[in-house]
Order: sequence, then C-alpha cells, then structure tokens
Amino acid sequence: MSSTESYPKFPAISTKKLQDGLQSEIFRWALTNGLAMYPPNFKPELATVAPITLFPTPLPNEAFQKAIDVQTIYNALYASISQNKNDWLAKETEKLAKSDPEFTGRLWTLYKRAKEYGIVQDLALGVFRSDYLINSDNNQIKQVEFNTVSVSFGGLSTKVGELHDYLNKSGNYSDNGEVFYDQDIPISPSAELLATGLATAINKYQPADKNKRPIVAFIVQNGERNVFDQSILALNLLSKYDTKSVRLTIHEIHEATRLDPETKRLYHKTTGQEIGLVYFRSGYAPSDFVSEQDWENRLTLEISYAIKAPNLLTQLSGTKKIQQLLTDPKILKEFLSDTESLDHLLPTFVKIYPLDSSVLGEIGKKLALTEPENYVLKPQREGGGNNIYKEDIPGFLESVDEDEWSAYILMELITPKSTEENFVIRGQELFNVPILSELGIFGTILFDHNNIYSNEYAGWLLRSKFSSSNEGGVAAGFGCVDSVVLY
Ligand code: ADP
Ligand code: MG
Ligand code: MG
Repeated sequence: MSSTESYPKFPAISTKKLQDGLQSEIFRWALTNGLAMYPPNFKPELATVAPITLFPTPLPNEAFQKAIDVQTIYNALYASISQNKNDWLAKETEKLAKSDPEFTGRLWTLYKRAKEYGIVQDLALGVFRSDYLINSDNNQIKQVEFNTVSVSFGGLSTKVGELHDYLNKSGNYSDNGEVFYDQDIPISPSAELLATGLATAINKYQPADKNKRPIVAFIVQNGERNVFDQSILALNLLSKYDTKSVRLTIHEIHEATRLDPETKRLYHKTTGQEIGLVYFRSGYAPSDFVSEQDWENRLTLEISYAIKAPNLLTQLSGTKKIQQLLTDPKILKEFLSDTESLDHLLPTFVKIYPLDSSVLGEIGKKLALTEPENYVLKPQREGGGNNIYKEDIPGFLESVDEDEWSAYILMELITPKSTEENFVIRGQELFNVPILSELGIFGTILFDHNNIYSNEYAGWLLRSKFSSSNEGGVAAGFGCVDSVVLY
C-alpha cells in the first residue's frame, strides 16, 4: 500500500470465529514454527505461544523507511563512541560510574581491570537495536533508546510476520475464508540478518587451527523465558553459515571454558572447540551477576581473544546517559562529522535533560518538579520496568539524595497513536483494548579501533503494549510481538 492510501482497516472477524478455532490454529502454527516462549513461572514443559497480536498493526510507510534508513548511521555512531575517540566515553563513564556504583560502576571497574591485564582482541561486534515511537502529531520517528547489549526478539519478529502472513493467506482473517490483505504481510528479515551479523564476526576471527571453524558462545540467563528467540538465531547460524554454537551462563564460564594463559584463546571445555565470538544475551542487569565469580567470569571473557558482542566499552556506550549527551549537536558532531548524517539523526531525538549541576541539569531539575506530566525519568538500567513516569517523578526524586540525581536522565514523553482494533493474545487470554506500538530496528557492525569491516541494517521488531501501561517490555510482561502493514 502506498502512503497516499488511508489508514488500513483491520479484519472484522467475529468473536465466535476467534473462539471456535482461530486461537487453536494460532497455537498450532506457533508451536510448529517456534513462535514460542516459556511461561512467567518458567515451567519448560509449558512452553506456549509468545505474547503476540492477532493482526499486523498499520504503520506509516515513510516513518518505517526512515527508521530503516538511519540504522547504519546509528551503528557507525555507536561504533565510533565505543572506539573511545578522544577518550570521551571513558571520561563520561568515569563520572557516571560514581553516581551509579551498583552497575555502571562495576562494569567500568571491570573494563579498567581488563585493560590492566591487556585487551588482546581489537575486533568488536555491535548487535544493536534502535527503538522508536512514532509521534502521533506528525508521524515522525522519535528515538526511545539505543540498545547495545542483549537485544532480543529478532527471531520471534520474523516468526510473527510469517504467522500473520499465513493467517491472511489461509483465509483466517475473514469469515468467508478469503484473503483480507491483497498483499503479502511484510516479514522482518531479522532472524536471518542477525545470524549473518554473528557469522561476519566468525568469518573475520583468526582461529589457532585454520581448518576448524570457531564456534559462538551464547551467554544466556538461567531460567530464560525467551529461549526460542535465541534458538532461531542459533539454527540459522548452523544452517546458513555452518557455524555451531553453545549456550552457557555467566555462572559457569570458569568451569565450562578454558582460557589459554599464553594466547588468551577461549575454548569450550567439553568439546575443545575454539570460541570465536561471545554473544551476550544476558549481563545487562545487576541481577544477572549473582556472585563475585560471575564478575570474574565476565572479566575472563573480556580479556579473552574471542570477539565480544558487545565488549564492555560497546555495552557502556549504550547507557541512557550517553544517549542524553548525544542530543547535544556539539557533542554529536565530534562523532559524526558529515552534515548529511547529522541532518538525518537530529530530527529523531526528543529533548533529554541531565539532572546534574550543569546549566542544562538545573533546567532538567526544574522541569522534573514543575511539569512532570510531560516527562519520563530513567535510571541507567536495561530490560524494562525501571522508569518513573509523570506525576511519580517529584515524589521519587524527593526520596533520592540530590547527589544521586545525576544517575538519571529526564526525557520528554513521546505520544504515539493508539489503535483499538487489534487483539492481544497472551497464553489463553485474548484482550481487545487500545494498544500502541514501538518500532525497533536491528543493526550489526564489525569494527576495531580504526576500521569498520561491515555495517548493516538487520531487520525490525514491532512491539505493542496496552496504551494504559507505561512500559512495553515483552519479556518483562508488559507487551507483545507484532508485525506491520504499511500505509
Ligand atoms: P529499557 O532499556 O528498560 O527498555 P526504555 O528507555 O526503552 O528502557 O523504556 C522502557 C519503555 O518505557 C519503552 O519501551 C516505552 O514503552 C516507555 N518509554 C520510554 N521512553 C519513553 C518516552 N520518551 N516517551 C514515551 N514512552 C517512553
Ligand atoms: Mg534498553
Ligand atoms: Mg527499551
């Protein structure tokens, strides 16, 4: 559909049709194809369909394309920050570490220790996702955040597009068995392109034995619910790139791997295979590290010759604080010299304020206390459920010592359009309430201190949530995986 066409209609199927079999059709398709998740109480035997929408959600084509178009610019920007050009990332993180000793501080200390040991691998892989809400006033994309560690749902995003396309083509979107949409439902290429990104790193890695293909270690959480999303990538790695992978938790690295003391090469102990890439699908929250051993294990991985996705500097480039600083065009220019790229990124920002003793920080503090209804307050955390919204902000800030306010950023709220015509499927439950959607664009970039070896867009994710809820994390229980129809 072209952008001149009006907002597309949703299928109007009867509730009876839904209850009489459409839902079981969906469950069958989902389990056949791995559009699945473990339930919140983590009972592996009760794996079920992942939280999804029944229909694709309409998105303006122009905004969608714009988000895709800027992805490689964002990739390059964050690679450039991770390269610690002008020591900027180090200086900013050193300050931030003081106001957030519990997590940023620990990661930063770990990086400094790794540097003392010696960092032997110059290559780094970024597997990124830039998230946007589309402003309801003007259909402009506005960045919510840029994720540099453990970005998820690239696997399930492809699957939900395939499900919606199947439901349409099989006649399930109409009471008379006809197709509802004349065209294919767009399918995110993320399940394949993220595997391509991981394989790029393996291809560039120099193994000790040139005849043996190194493997990828997925570093995962114990009790992870979103396993199938990860497995889809692992299966694609094997089938399309002849690349094996293992799943390890951070808690077992000291037992499950061996670091050669001379070469710093990392080996999988039981098979003896060389690990060429450490791909983090955990390690983004303090709760991922339960003992001191876990931190030591993270250090082992950092000083190993394996490529990290991400290494500590790349992970630290993705803090909310760095995002706030980059909204200052003067700072942004240090990392993106060409004006064309700048002109593309600047309109994707909304205002973000620090809450420190700078001039801008004083403005931020005043806004937080006098007009909180227009803002969200964010700590330096990932994974959903950490933000403070609107009227809760002043009371929250009062409960925190003012010295610690600089660990937070204050961000203007974006107001996307909501729709009432989609359904949300969560387990056996079906909801028909207004939802709004957040668009994520994946990207991968392989780089070292001076060079970029590959920089690619890697598909999309649409997550939708009840309009009534502030947050939209799927794994955190706030949202669901959606697909798109463009108009
Ligand atoms: P996290 O790293 O925990 O995912 P986010 O910055 O993505 O943190 O915030 C979590 C959620 O909060 C987002 O998915 C979105 O639903 C909501 N949110 C965050 N920032 C904004 C904003 N500026 N305007 C509106 N909603 C926001
Ligand atoms: Mg995040
Ligand atoms: Mg987020």
